[in-house]
Amino acid sequence: MYYSTRGWQHPVSAAQAIVGGIAPDGGLYVPSAIPQINTVFIEQLIAKTYQQRAQDVMGLFLPEFDAVELTQCINSAYTKTKFPDPKIAPVINLKSTAALLELWHGPTAAFKDMALQLLPQLLVTSLHKLNLTGRIAILVATSGDTGKAALAGFKDVDQTEVIVFYPEDGVSAVQKLQMVTQTGANVHVVAVKGNFDDAQTGVKHIFSDRELARILADQSIQLSSANSINLGRLLPQIVYYFSAYADMIKSGRIKTGDVINFVVPTGNFGNILAGYYAKQMGLPVGRLICAANNNNVLAEFINSGVYNRNRPFHQTLSPSMDILISSNLERLLYHLTDGSTEQVTAWQQQLQTEGCYHVTSAVKQKLTSLFWSDWSSDDDTCAVIRRVYQQHGYLLDPHTAVAWSVFERYQQETGDDTTSIIVATASPFKFADSVLAALTGQTVEQGGLESLFKLAELTNTIVPESLTALVDQPILHTAVCNKNDMRKMVTLRLLAD
Ligand SMILES: *Cc1c(COP(=O)(O)O)cnc(C)c1O
Repeated sequence: MYYSTRGWQHPVSAAQAIVGGIAPDGGLYVPSAIPQINTVFIEQLIAKTYQQRAQDVMGLFLPEFDAVELTQCINSAYTKTKFPDPKIAPVINLKSTAALLELWHGPTAAFKDMALQLLPQLLVTSLHKLNLTGRIAILVATSGDTGKAALAGFKDVDQTEVIVFYPEDGVSAVQKLQMVTQTGANVHVVAVKGNFDDAQTGVKHIFSDRELARILADQSIQLSSANSINLGRLLPQIVYYFSAYADMIKSGRIKTGDVINFVVPTGNFGNILAGYYAKQMGLPVGRLICAANNNNVLAEFINSGVYNRNRPFHQTLSPSMDILISSNLERLLYHLTDGSTEQVTAWQQQLQTEGCYHVTSAVKQKLTSLFWSDWSSDDDTCAVIRRVYQQHGYLLDPHTAVAWSVFERYQQETGDDTTSIIVATASPFKFADSVLAALTGQTVEQGGLESLFKLAELTNTIVPESLTALVDQPILHTAVCNKNDMRKMVTLRLLAD
């Protein structure tokens, strides 16, 4: 069963949580108990495929899905066409103390695909289970990667519509092109004049708009979210922590039971939260290292216990981490307060009214024992991209480079040389302008697709096919709106026919 972080008393099934997205009181759904695994469970994963590992891990959270249903969901998500690498999420050994977990082999070349290819399958299966016959309209606010991944995942999926809002000037040229060229009869893409937080706040207001919900319900339409707060996004992300651990045993780098760290480039706190769940389930994880960019709210929070969003918003080279309100943190607060929904609600209210809250010293203590955090400036991030390419011949995208940079600082400051896995969240080609600039030391104007081919030539590497395919696709979506007009855009699109 799943409960709201804000105290709404009625437990719901996983299917209801996935269809609902967010709880009626505005809270996020959390499991009533975190399933526990043992070493046998881990050892059995070693010989399995990624798909089988997903089945084992997710099955623990989805008792109402039978094995056949879950297999069907997983096999339609992680296909050969969508994920050309048969390992799905391969682990690359680069140096003695660190390996990389590549999560960008899906159709949009960023880690969001890992969850967003599976979420639509889980959602449609959930609708059938609940005998719901109307349409679900998925609303997404994106800082770049989620939007395209949601569009690609939901494209032409029965009973669904998907509307994506992105900050007009807050995404890369390639990200924008990926979204505005998206085909599918049920997809809608709108640029918002504002930053990611404006888009996300707008979407949250639409979700809590009772009158709109009623108008849509009259047409058998229900709103839901594909943002990383949806339980159906979180569960698929837990899988790759287990998969990476199993692959590290398989390659002989660790033995079963050895503790490893994970370094996660963090924005909305979804990816690293999945790592926290893996650890709580019993996976031998030491520290979860939370890497931030110049928007360093989380780094400050983990080090001081004060969450303060009252600060300037920076556009950085790692735009998918340009976030001041990390929504998924609410789930962590719930667990660290042993499920105190009053406390969580109070902090979230303070965040809304004052932009700031302090956690108790007990929570602060748990935070610092589980996590370590720091941030990387754009200059440091560029230097890392250049240096890692020179030393290892490996191209990091700016988000992964933030993680690498923070990992180096972690090792220097703590002296901890536990084997660590740096989570690689995007293909370098998705951010080719920035990577080119970092490698050459020259400024690169937004070069769009041109830069991809330049980068490939310079480094003698191959552009992922999903990105080269953008070359001759027509632009299908040109709508732009003010942040106060997002509701109107939704009604226009959903009630048009
Ligand atoms: C979304 C994203 C992140 C941040 O992940 P969260 O789950 O939001 O913390 C990091 N890197 C890339 C490339 C992303 O797309």
